[in-house]
Amino acid sequence: MTVEGGATLKELVGAAAEAGMALPYAPYWWGVTVGGMLSTGAHGSSLRGRGAPCTSTSSRCGSSHQRRPQRDTPRCVGWGWPPDLDAAKVSLGVLGIISQVTFKLQPLFKRSVTFTEKDDADLADQAVPFGSQHEFADIAWYPGQRKVLYRIDDRIPNNASGNGVFDFIGFRSTATLVLFANRLAEEGLEATGNADGRCQYSRLTTSAIAIAGYGLTNNGLLFTGYPVVGFQNKIQSSGGCLDGPDDALLTACPWDPRVRGEFFHQTTVSISLSKAKDFIQDVQKLRDLNPEAFCGVELYNGILMRYVKSSSAYLGKQDDCLDFDITYYRSHDPAVPRLYEDVLEEVEQMALFKYGGMPHWGKNRNVAFDGVIAKYPKIGEFLRVKNEYDPQGLFSSEWTDQVLGIKGRASIYKQGCALEGLCTCSEDAHCAPDRGYYCRPGKVYKDARVCTKSG
Ligand SMILES: Cc1cc2nc3c(=O)[nH]c(=O)nc-3n(C[C@H](O)[C@H](O)[C@H](O)COP(=O)(O)OP(=O)(O)OC[C@H]3O[C@@H](n4cnc5c(N)ncnc54)[C@H](O)[C@@H]3O)c2cc1C
Repeated sequence: MTVEGGATLKELVGAAAEAGMALPYAPYWWGVTVGGMLSTGAHGSSLRGRGAPCTSTSSRCGSSHQRRPQRDTPRCVGWGWPPDLDAAKVSLGVLGIISQVTFKLQPLFKRSVTFTEKDDADLADQAVPFGSQHEFADIAWYPGQRKVLYRIDDRIPNNASGNGVFDFIGFRSTATLVLFANRLAEEGLEATGNADGRCQYSRLTTSAIAIAGYGLTNNGLLFTGYPVVGFQNKIQSSGGCLDGPDDALLTACPWDPRVRGEFFHQTTVSISLSKAKDFIQDVQKLRDLNPEAFCGVELYNGILMRYVKSSSAYLGKQDDCLDFDITYYRSHDPAVPRLYEDVLEEVEQMALFKYGGMPHWGKNRNVAFDGVIAKYPKIGEFLRVKNEYDPQGLFSSEWTDQVLGIKGRASIYKQGCALEGLCTCSEDAHCAPDRGYYCRPGKVYKDARVCTKSG
């Protein structure tokens, strides 16, 4: 199926389903556009298929199929062949505009989903094999509670009964009063340093979401229990708030900047499957030193772990990976540190530097992108294609030049820079010494440099 670059994932999934077809692997949020999803390597969770991003077969910026445009000809080309396609599959938008993409679809199929909770004692051993056991497996990890939510999710025959829907709670239209109350509560706990209160609040939040089946319903209306069986187009992705009522912001997407709702950082790093076990064990060691330091991520449904296949894209994943998606409180005042600021900074540096993780191109903070391009052995090929398609750098920016290692670096050094992830601290001034936060080594990963509260 061929769609325009500006089509949303929701439109793509809907049009495919009308034709009795399905996109098997895709991000969970269907508000992404086809162009944005391709440019950043957006993904769902699976070790099957052809690797991130999605299953596109070709993309182009016009109707001509001229492969090597000369300098003075319109650069409208078909990216249907390697090496161009391997550059275009994850391009950060610097090659030009993706105007059309052709996807390889599959006949519409059904899935059966069950979320099951366990303690996290054997998570390090289970995490990698679990990804091969279920086609659409993922894991939500609540380290502070020592709990893990395994998503057992597989294709099943189309004659299985069930018309389930996954309308993920976190993507639904939410009353702005509720968003405001939640944010106020979180800000209060942060401001008073009430770590215990934050843990109680996170336990309450995770229980409430679990009782509601995380947004799953067995028939589109009610959640009556597992398994939930439904068609792929109703299970893989959602985004209820995209279609929310036009009600003068009485309701909104939880992260809508026009209302005082969620405001967070998101550190998302893919770690090679061969290193994932050691990384999990390191995080567990850090957690064991102080479990309540991790309650903050549980307010955002824990650490989401997803399986991502390696890709031939030059800027794609080099190996099969486990992707760790960590969402956490961000103050509106960049000079104000988070409660247990140091702990998630240490996890971030561990993932990126000790375990050589690849940051998601469409998420993360500056520190994740500083020198990142050294992790991509085929960057030379990518830049060659970029120079052919856009020799004048019309589609590049200061940021993409920094990230791609062309000019400058992604880190910004100034007072308090580590708090916002603009830098890794190397001196106390990069933290908040006036508030008692100093630049110190990590507790488990000693090479980390993190803003630690002392005294
Ligand atoms: C609520 C939410 C949930 C998310 N869930 C997931 C998830 O499940 N999995 C995941 O991997 N990611 C997820 N993301 C991250 C998301 O995939 C990226 O932020 C993605 O880039 C967003 O797509 P967009 O259409 O908004 O692109 P934009 O943010 O508009 O653009 C992203 C990049 O793509 C380039 N670009 C956009 N369109 C084109 C085009 N037509 N031609 C060339 N370049 C183009 C832009 O220049 C830019 O560099 C989520 C984000 C949100 C906000």
